[in-house]
Amino acid sequence: MSDPAVLTETDEQTVDMKDIVALCKRRGFIFPASDIYGGLNGFWDYGPLGTELKNNIRDLWWKSMVITPPIGPDGLPVEIVGLDSAIIQNPKAWVASGHVGGFSDPMVDCKETKLRYRADHLMVLVPKDGEGRWIAYQEGAESDEVEKRVKKLGSGRSISAFEPTPLMDIDVADYDKVSAPDTKTQGTLTEPREFNLMFHTYVGATASEDSKVYLRPETAQGIFLNYKNVLDSSRVRVPFGIAQIGKAYRNEVTPRNFIYRSREFEQMEMEWFCHPDEAEKWHEFWITQRKDWWQSIGVKEDDVFIRPHDADELAHYAKDGLGTVDVEFKFPFTAPDFGELEGIAHRCDFDLTQHQEHSGTKMEYIDPVTNERYIPHVIEPAAGLSRGVLAIICSAYTVDESRPSGMYLDFHPSVAPKKAAILPLTAKEDHVPLATELYKELREHYNVDLDIKQNIGKRYARQDEIGTPFCFTIDNDTIEDKTVTVRHRNTMKQERIAMDKVLDYMREELKKF
Ligand code: ATP
Repeated sequence: MSDPAVLTETDEQTVDMKDIVALCKRRGFIFPASDIYGGLNGFWDYGPLGTELKNNIRDLWWKSMVITPPIGPDGLPVEIVGLDSAIIQNPKAWVASGHVGGFSDPMVDCKETKLRYRADHLMVLVPKDGEGRWIAYQEGAESDEVEKRVKKLGSGRSISAFEPTPLMDIDVADYDKVSAPDTKTQGTLTEPREFNLMFHTYVGATASEDSKVYLRPETAQGIFLNYKNVLDSSRVRVPFGIAQIGKAYRNEVTPRNFIYRSREFEQMEMEWFCHPDEAEKWHEFWITQRKDWWQSIGVKEDDVFIRPHDADELAHYAKDGLGTVDVEFKFPFTAPDFGELEGIAHRCDFDLTQHQEHSGTKMEYIDPVTNERYIPHVIEPAAGLSRGVLAIICSAYTVDESRPSGMYLDFHPSVAPKKAAILPLTAKEDHVPLATELYKELREHYNVDLDIKQNIGKRYARQDEIGTPFCFTIDNDTIEDKTVTVRHRNTMKQERIAMDKVLDYMREELKKF
């Protein structure tokens, strides 16, 4: 088993990613799962601060979708309801959705190193005269088509580990000329094989094909399965949305880049059901909304990129050239390119029609005003919560050699695990009770930290490393005049304010972000 904490070759090219992984472990954001047993590739555990950070992003998404959804293009608030569906569903649902049979990646094994790769990370399949041809990856390839596809694959994917060699345009028959990234020997790769990404298990006492079930590879299908129930049990009318947050599982061939591509992760997905004639308008609407939302929680503008999928990338459900637009983020391992953070897909009526056919349940919507019957079209903003955590940490990571920690996390306060720290200057008797008094007042309103031990410089450094916007320090003057020192994370500026005004001060300062 490979150690998940050990980074791939691609990661080693960027110092930042190693620093980020180390910080996450040192400060309790993210640990390798089963750490004491050497980890399990593709699985991660969230520590005390990582859990707070993830919950904050999750709650902000829920609020922006279900509690206070945006104002629509017509000036009225849109309607979205929440859902929490089972991870294991009837396996027929995955046949209907196209995941059984279709949800697979081509995979190759290196016979020499025993390492496994996704074939599309190492080479590009170009159809020629109706025949498949494998073209080995080469940086700066002359051919426009190959270059374009390599660029696309490079986005968020680790192919730059491949040694630049002259472009190999090979027939399937010449396949033994390809070499894997970790060996110089040619012809060590097996033929590409399909590899189903869904984890399976069995329900009940007997493990047979009849009792085989799958762990959901996306949260979206649970929404389609409940579309009719929601329509019949609530007062929603098209257009409306159903939102869900939860775990998804994919047996990724090569989990990599920390929590970017893991085998267990969380998604935040919303299916927007609308009239077919209005789908394009809503697609545009949600693309803008989603990009703005990521920025509202602290992802820096220069780090986000909106990328429409190329025609050759269109998913199985895309019709009439309508496809997916990705919100991409400049991760340290993709820079200067970007990697997918969220996909905003135009799924047409694919899913509802498939479930109608496979289940025999009518999925038609009858417009109560016009009596028109139709299967709604669907726009799906599908975001990764785990990838979102990574994007937020990467975007916040700011190098600053002038401070003892050498860096700080510039978290937007809405996502910061701790909004403030209360620090008695010394662990002396008279500083601690006042600090505790302030802590007890603030914690009723914000998630704050009371940190008593160690010298003050080390405690400031720790708060910088975990991205706490404010530190309030209690010292001898506090005893005299009931004032405290407030230190601002980004500027390290310090000022003196009255202790009984700290809560008001925080409220005012947090509004400024
Ligand atoms: P990719 O092309 O990176 O494999 P995808 O297009 O298959 O992603 P979707 O099926 O659109 O991804 O899933 C929606 C979101 O779920 C993605 O934008 C991403 O943020 C997240 N996601 C998908 N696969 C993983 C994974 N293996 N680990 C972490 N997050 C993931």
